[in-house]
Amino acid sequence: QEVHAAEFEHTFIAIKPDGVQRGLIAEIISRFERKGFKLVGIKILTPSKEFAQKHYHDLTERPFFNGLCEFLSSGPVIAMVWEGQGVISYGRKLIGATDPQKSEPGTIRGDLAVVVGRNIIHGSDGPETAKNEINLWFKPEELVNYTGNSEKWIY
Ligand code: ADP
Ligand code: MG
Repeated sequence: QEVHAAEFEHTFIAIKPDGVQRGLIAEIISRFERKGFKLVGIKILTPSKEFAQKHYHDLTERPFFNGLCEFLSSGPVIAMVWEGQGVISYGRKLIGATDPQKSEPGTIRGDLAVVVGRNIIHGSDGPETAKNEINLWFKPEELVNYTGNSEKWIY
Protein backbone atom coordinates (compact mmCIF):
# COMPACT_ATOMS: atom_id res chain seq x y z
CA GLN A 1 0.00 0.00 0.00
CA GLU A 2 1.22 3.46 -0.83
CA VAL A 3 2.37 5.58 2.08
CA HIS A 4 1.11 9.13 2.46
CA ALA A 5 3.00 10.79 5.28
CA ALA A 6 0.34 13.48 5.62
CA GLU A 7 -2.13 10.86 6.83
CA PHE A 8 0.06 10.00 9.75
CA GLU A 9 -0.75 11.13 13.23
CA HIS A 10 1.76 12.20 15.81
CA THR A 11 1.61 11.76 19.55
CA PHE A 12 3.72 12.91 22.47
CA ILE A 13 5.10 10.16 24.68
CA ALA A 14 7.30 10.72 27.75
CA ILE A 15 9.12 8.24 29.95
CA LYS A 16 8.79 9.77 33.41
CA PRO A 17 11.68 9.94 35.92
CA ASP A 18 10.70 6.59 37.50
CA GLY A 19 10.84 4.81 34.14
CA VAL A 20 14.26 6.32 33.39
CA GLN A 21 15.66 5.51 36.85
CA ARG A 22 14.38 1.94 36.64
CA GLY A 23 16.17 1.32 33.35
CA LEU A 24 13.01 0.91 31.29
CA ILE A 25 13.86 3.26 28.41
CA ALA A 26 14.74 0.56 25.88
CA GLU A 27 11.84 -1.67 26.98
CA ILE A 28 9.32 1.12 26.45
CA ILE A 29 10.76 2.35 23.15
CA SER A 30 10.89 -1.24 21.94
CA ARG A 31 7.14 -1.73 22.41
CA PHE A 32 6.28 1.28 20.25
CA GLU A 33 8.94 0.40 17.68
CA ARG A 34 7.95 -3.28 17.30
CA LYS A 35 4.31 -2.29 16.85
CA GLY A 36 5.30 -0.42 13.71
CA PHE A 37 5.19 3.16 14.97
CA LYS A 38 8.02 5.48 14.00
CA LEU A 39 10.16 7.62 16.28
CA VAL A 40 10.46 11.12 14.82
CA GLY A 41 11.66 13.09 17.86
CA ILE A 42 13.53 12.19 21.06
CA LYS A 43 15.52 13.94 23.79
CA ILE A 44 16.43 13.56 27.44
CA LEU A 45 15.94 16.50 29.81
CA THR A 46 15.00 17.33 33.37
CA PRO A 47 11.98 19.64 33.10
CA SER A 48 11.62 22.52 35.55
CA LYS A 49 8.67 22.48 37.92
CA GLU A 50 7.15 25.41 35.98
CA PHE A 51 7.43 23.40 32.78
CA ALA A 52 5.80 20.38 34.46
CA GLN A 53 2.93 22.66 35.55
CA LYS A 54 2.46 23.76 31.94
CA HIS A 55 2.46 20.17 30.75
CA TYR A 56 -0.17 19.16 33.32
CA HIS A 57 -2.18 22.45 33.16
CA ASP A 58 -5.46 20.50 32.84
CA LEU A 59 -4.94 18.99 36.30
CA THR A 60 -4.31 22.14 38.39
CA GLU A 61 -7.42 21.53 40.51
CA ARG A 62 -6.52 17.96 41.40
CA PRO A 63 -5.17 17.24 44.90
CA PHE A 64 -2.16 15.39 43.47
CA PHE A 65 -1.19 18.23 41.07
CA ASN A 66 1.69 19.63 43.13
CA GLY A 67 3.21 16.23 43.91
CA LEU A 68 2.84 15.21 40.28
CA CYS A 69 4.69 18.30 39.05
CA GLU A 70 7.39 17.86 41.73
CA PHE A 71 7.79 14.31 40.56
CA LEU A 72 7.95 15.01 36.82
CA SER A 73 10.64 17.62 37.45
CA SER A 74 12.63 15.44 39.87
CA GLY A 75 14.92 13.86 37.29
CA PRO A 76 15.55 13.09 33.63
CA VAL A 77 12.59 12.43 31.36
CA ILE A 78 12.69 10.96 27.84
CA ALA A 79 10.49 13.13 25.61
CA MET A 80 9.44 11.60 22.31
CA VAL A 81 7.21 12.11 19.29
CA TRP A 82 5.89 8.95 17.65
CA GLU A 83 4.24 8.76 14.24
CA GLY A 84 1.82 6.29 12.68
CA GLN A 85 -1.76 5.55 11.76
CA GLY A 86 -3.84 5.66 14.93
CA VAL A 87 -0.77 6.29 17.10
CA ILE A 88 -2.59 8.60 19.53
CA SER A 89 -5.28 6.18 20.65
CA TYR A 90 -3.26 3.00 20.10
CA GLY A 91 -0.37 4.55 22.03
CA ARG A 92 -2.77 4.90 24.98
CA LYS A 93 -3.64 1.21 24.58
CA LEU A 94 0.02 0.21 24.64
CA ILE A 95 0.42 2.32 27.80
CA GLY A 96 -2.62 0.95 29.66
CA ALA A 97 -4.95 2.50 32.24
CA THR A 98 -3.76 5.41 34.38
CA ASP A 99 -3.80 3.27 37.54
CA PRO A 100 -1.41 0.33 37.01
CA GLN A 101 -3.62 -1.76 39.32
CA LYS A 102 -6.29 -1.46 36.61
CA SER A 103 -3.99 -1.73 33.58
CA GLU A 104 -4.27 -5.00 31.70
CA PRO A 105 -1.29 -7.35 31.63
CA GLY A 106 0.47 -6.85 28.31
CA THR A 107 0.33 -3.07 28.62
CA ILE A 108 3.35 -1.02 29.66
CA ARG A 109 1.85 0.07 32.98
CA GLY A 110 0.23 -3.33 33.54
CA ASP A 111 3.51 -5.14 33.07
CA LEU A 112 5.94 -2.65 34.58
CA ALA A 113 4.29 -0.42 37.21
CA VAL A 114 2.33 -0.82 40.45
CA VAL A 115 0.96 2.51 41.71
CA VAL A 116 -0.68 5.51 39.99
CA GLY A 117 1.87 8.03 41.28
CA ARG A 118 4.70 6.00 39.68
CA ASN A 119 3.17 4.87 36.40
CA ILE A 120 6.38 5.43 34.37
CA ILE A 121 4.98 6.86 31.13
CA HIS A 122 2.86 9.66 29.70
CA GLY A 123 0.92 9.64 26.42
CA SER A 124 -1.26 12.33 24.83
CA ASP A 125 -4.96 11.58 25.27
CA GLY A 126 -6.31 13.02 21.99
CA PRO A 127 -5.47 14.95 18.79
CA GLU A 128 -5.69 18.38 20.44
CA THR A 129 -3.51 17.50 23.44
CA ALA A 130 -1.05 15.69 21.15
CA LYS A 131 -0.61 18.85 19.10
CA ASN A 132 -0.25 21.06 22.18
CA GLU A 133 2.15 18.73 23.96
CA ILE A 134 4.37 18.28 20.90
CA ASN A 135 4.52 22.09 20.55
CA LEU A 136 5.33 22.49 24.24
CA TRP A 137 8.16 19.94 24.31
CA PHE A 138 9.65 20.21 20.80
CA LYS A 139 10.69 22.83 18.28
CA PRO A 140 9.68 21.96 14.69
CA GLU A 141 13.34 21.52 13.68
CA GLU A 142 13.80 18.87 16.37
CA LEU A 143 11.45 16.53 14.51
CA VAL A 144 12.56 14.48 11.54
CA ASN A 145 10.72 13.37 8.45
CA TYR A 146 11.98 10.16 6.88
CA THR A 147 10.79 7.01 5.19
CA GLY A 148 11.94 3.82 6.83
CA ASN A 149 12.62 0.57 4.98
CA SER A 150 9.86 -1.36 6.73
CA GLU A 151 7.05 1.07 5.91
CA LYS A 152 5.91 -0.75 2.79
CA TRP A 153 5.52 -3.88 4.92
CA ILE A 154 3.52 -2.15 7.64
CA TYR A 155 1.10 -0.14 5.50
P1 ADP B 1 -2.85 9.63 32.20
O1 ADP B 1 -1.37 9.79 32.47
O2 ADP B 1 -3.23 8.16 32.10
O3 ADP B 1 -3.33 10.43 31.02
P2 ADP B 1 -4.15 11.63 33.88
O4 ADP B 1 -3.95 12.58 32.74
O5 ADP B 1 -5.51 11.50 34.45
O6 ADP B 1 -3.64 10.15 33.48
O7 ADP B 1 -3.18 12.01 35.08
C1 ADP B 1 -1.87 12.42 34.80
C2 ADP B 1 -0.93 11.73 35.77
O8 ADP B 1 -1.25 12.14 37.09
C3 ADP B 1 -1.05 10.20 35.83
O9 ADP B 1 -0.33 9.54 34.81
C4 ADP B 1 -0.48 9.92 37.18
O10 ADP B 1 0.95 9.94 37.16
C5 ADP B 1 -0.96 11.10 38.00
N1 ADP B 1 -2.18 10.77 38.73
C6 ADP B 1 -3.41 10.58 38.23
N2 ADP B 1 -4.29 10.27 39.17
C7 ADP B 1 -3.58 10.25 40.35
C8 ADP B 1 -3.91 9.99 41.70
N3 ADP B 1 -5.15 9.70 42.06
N4 ADP B 1 -2.92 10.08 42.61
C9 ADP B 1 -1.67 10.39 42.25
N5 ADP B 1 -1.28 10.64 41.00
C10 ADP B 1 -2.23 10.57 40.04
MG1 MG C 1 -3.44 12.50 30.75
